[in-house]
Amino acid sequence: MQELTALLGERLSVNADVREAHGAGYSYHECMPPDVVVFPNTTEEVSGIVSICAKYGVPIVPFGAGTSIEGHVLALRGGICIDLRGMNQVLEVNKDDMYVLVQAGVRRNQLDELLEGTGFFFPIGPGVNATLGGMASTRASGTNAVRYGTMKDNVLALTAVLPDGKIIKTGSKAKKSSAGYDLTRLLVGAEGTLGVITELILKLHSEPETIYAAVCAFPTVEAAVATAIKTIQKGVPIAKIELLDAAMMRAINRYSSLDYEEVPTLFLEFHGAVAEVEGQIQKVEEYAHSFGAADFVWEKDEARRKRLWRARTDAAPSAMALRPGAKLMSTDVCVPISQLAKCIVDTQHDIEKTGIMAPILGHVGDGNFHLTILINPDDKEEFERAKALNERLVRRALAMGGTCTGEHGIGVGKLQYMALEHGDSLDMMRAIKHAIDPQNLMNPGKLLPEQ
Ligand SMILES: Cc1cc2nc3c(=O)[nH]c(=O)nc-3n(C[C@H](O)[C@H](O)[C@H](O)COP(=O)(O)OP(=O)(O)OC[C@H]3O[C@@H](n4cnc5c(N)ncnc54)[C@H](O)[C@@H]3O)c2cc1C
Repeated sequence: MQELTALLGERLSVNADVREAHGAGYSYHECMPPDVVVFPNTTEEVSGIVSICAKYGVPIVPFGAGTSIEGHVLALRGGICIDLRGMNQVLEVNKDDMYVLVQAGVRRNQLDELLEGTGFFFPIGPGVNATLGGMASTRASGTNAVRYGTMKDNVLALTAVLPDGKIIKTGSKAKKSSAGYDLTRLLVGAEGTLGVITELILKLHSEPETIYAAVCAFPTVEAAVATAIKTIQKGVPIAKIELLDAAMMRAINRYSSLDYEEVPTLFLEFHGAVAEVEGQIQKVEEYAHSFGAADFVWEKDEARRKRLWRARTDAAPSAMALRPGAKLMSTDVCVPISQLAKCIVDTQHDIEKTGIMAPILGHVGDGNFHLTILINPDDKEEFERAKALNERLVRRALAMGGTCTGEHGIGVGKLQYMALEHGDSLDMMRAIKHAIDPQNLMNPGKLLPEQ
């Protein structure tokens, strides 16, 4: 403690409220606070903190904005939580090479605001104001991933502090490289189990000349998903294609005072030159009609388009408002696109049988969808039913050749599915973890089930 105080002065806390605020994040898992929370401002300070932890064998939990869903930031073994939000400087915006250099604690909204008017944007955005270090660490995506990829596709290079305190740089500013193991992509999605990311070089994209959005109501979920599948299979470069089921439409109507039809609905967005966008729209509208959609409602006006996407972004609080006092258990599977309709429909039947409130939304262009299960935190029996529903969903997705998580990650909530999904290759992951973190100090108990 003395060494930490000498390094950080007042930027360290053992206050119970501060520790509590760092012990759970947005997850439904029970809070497990760290012993100490530290607030570094530089990579060198992070290195100093980690070196002290390595010397005394103290566990370390990196912390971004704490918006992760699967208990990623629980301090299962106590120790030190490194809150990176003080590292919130955008260090360089390079328009010629189309990248931005940021510290890991920069929030996505902060970056969006800074890039406004530059002609460039960063496409990855989960539904909350997460940090870019946290987003890299969970390999986050969101609504734009269908066209622009996930964090794995948009991080060019990293600075990270390894579990012994050593500072390394991975990747380069070049668009591609064949030089050795891809350590950038090893750290992206590592959930803080291999090191602390302190800086990132992120790809920027040119702002499209035109953006049109649309909302399209369907008679059934199958029809909506069939439209999404055809759009992808026909190679339409759609920017967003989001499914909301009837229950979720009811939720957003109430929460955002809207009056959409309360039926399965696709929210869509198209990017490009005017003629290109109009061509894409014509095709998707045709597919939608062929699957029984009555009409496509266009939102070309920027303010109306933003209102539409605000409603979609507010899906989680909208669902929670359906059951005041409820806790949110968000599921997250991803399946090959040809299996998506069956996976969603089978899951809807399961929800009905389970008798639980669970509106559905999905980034359906990627085959990824979520149930927003609303549970009474005091009702243990209901909690167990919700967990069982989630487990059946994961097993259904795996049986279809999918994954137990498309974007939220493993944390502690999905540990039990790692062997099922990865089989023998789990041993290789364990070997990597052991080689880099032999003392098992970095976010211990997460991502890899212990033997
Ligand atoms: C309402 C809601 C909507 C969401 N929508 C989406 C969505 O659409 N898509 C999506 O992908 N996710 C979504 N999420 C999940 C969440 O926002 C993401 O997982 C996000 O990437 C977490 O970022 P964070 O900064 O909050 O990280 P944290 O929650 O603080 O940390 C997440 C993990 O990364 C580690 N970590 C954090 N920072 C670092 C660092 N600098 N170096 C090393 N390890 C680090 C932590 O130890 C932890 O394991 C949503 C969450 C909520 C609550």
